[in-house]
Amino acid sequence: MSDFSMDLNDDQITLRDWVHGFAEKEMRPIAAEWDEREETPWPFIQEAAKLGVYGLDFIMNAIRDPTGLSMMIVLEELAWGDAGLCMSLMGTTLGVAAIVSNGTPEQQMEWVPRCYGTPDDIKLAAFAVTEPDAGSDVSSLRTRALYDEAKDEWILNGTKTWITNGGIANVHVIVASVDPKLGSRGQASFIVPEGTSGLSMGQKFKKMGIRASHTAEVVLEDCRVPGSCLLGGKEKLDEKLARVREGRRASSQAAMATFEATRPAVGAQALGIARAAYEYALDYAKERKQFGRLIIENQAIAFKLANMKTSVDASRLLIWRASWMAATRKPFTSGEGSMSKLFAGETAVRVTEEAIQILGGYGYVRDYPVERWHRDSKIYTIFEGTSEIQRLIIARAISGVHIR
Ligand SMILES: Cc1cc2nc3c(=O)[nH]c(=O)nc-3n(C[C@H](O)[C@H](O)[C@H](O)COP(=O)(O)OP(=O)(O)OC[C@H]3O[C@@H](n4cnc5c(N)ncnc54)[C@H](O)[C@@H]3O)c2cc1C
Repeated sequence: MSDFSMDLNDDQITLRDWVHGFAEKEMRPIAAEWDEREETPWPFIQEAAKLGVYGLDFIMNAIRDPTGLSMMIVLEELAWGDAGLCMSLMGTTLGVAAIVSNGTPEQQMEWVPRCYGTPDDIKLAAFAVTEPDAGSDVSSLRTRALYDEAKDEWILNGTKTWITNGGIANVHVIVASVDPKLGSRGQASFIVPEGTSGLSMGQKFKKMGIRASHTAEVVLEDCRVPGSCLLGGKEKLDEKLARVREGRRASSQAAMATFEATRPAVGAQALGIARAAYEYALDYAKERKQFGRLIIENQAIAFKLANMKTSVDASRLLIWRASWMAATRKPFTSGEGSMSKLFAGETAVRVTEEAIQILGGYGYVRDYPVERWHRDSKIYTIFEGTSEIQRLIIARAISGVHIR
């Protein structure tokens, strides 16, 4: 007898309804304002922490679900509320994912709570991989980490760009090269604690979408961190480097391990935006009259909505499958994590564009949320691996060929 079920259990339904209520009451009414202000929505994050939607307990409860679905349900609802505000809460989770993927149990115990802080004293985290000359090509990172044996300290130098919560985070996780000759196999992740001198914020970027989420450069100039800030520890790193130098198989790359774990979660956010746009367009099409009839009575409009709903539901199925596979420790043999992010990201762009079309001129102006959702959706085909890179991962996985 298989125990497979597509039904959500009572806990998941309660969680979904609670987060949906939060998204409806606390996010939708302020979304347009924070999009315009284009700055970190501190009062919102504070409120989310007080209500229990931001913080260690919230994330741990969602992650602990053995089916893997709870986190996906939460993210879909939050992004349905607003993707920029959602990212202002979830940027921290990227840093946390890096610590959980690469840190020792002791490092996880010490640093994960410090990424969130408490409702009275909220903290943020950031995960910094990308550099001006190293985006999709993570193997070419120039940020260097040198070990000062006498002081048992690591010295970081380099510039990171496009970093969510970059420069304002209390905990930065920085991916740096320890041995550039080894490419991505010669990289490691380092925690830079709050107040460490040598880390500063560079340019803050003005963006097309998810504008409530802070994105900036992070500059590292002789930034010294204790040896204990190397995620996984020195012994493990030395063993890995020795294996790579001898041409033996090494464990997965530091940055890639994090991205593998977070792709379905990124897809779930794209899904939330797509569903929001689909629902809005459906309601609108059932109210708007032209030529004396509802616009939904035209096949041209109804078929768009049929396609939108089909893609939204297909995205959810791919995301739930990938997340369930990850939670039940089934390997992504065909790039299932990438498939979920690829499909949901492209669905969000297409569905939000169709929603604009269904609203006509009303879809194009800021009095209605649909144009914002379209702007917000586009990042989901770019960050955490562009659509092209997701296709590369899937193509390599299914073919076994090193496709370029
Ligand atoms: C709002 C925002 C937030 C972000 N947050 C973070 C963060 O928190 N931390 C972090 O580390 N990074 C972050 N990023 C960076 C993001 O992950 C990168 O922008 C992304 O990986 C793409 O890198 P790139 O911009 O340098 O594009 P490039 O790698 O230069 O790619 C340019 C184009 O070339 C294509 N391309 C590149 N290589 C190939 C190939 N081999 N085959 C086919 N096509 C290819 C790409 O798909 C893309 O279309 C963020 C970016 C943005 C915009």
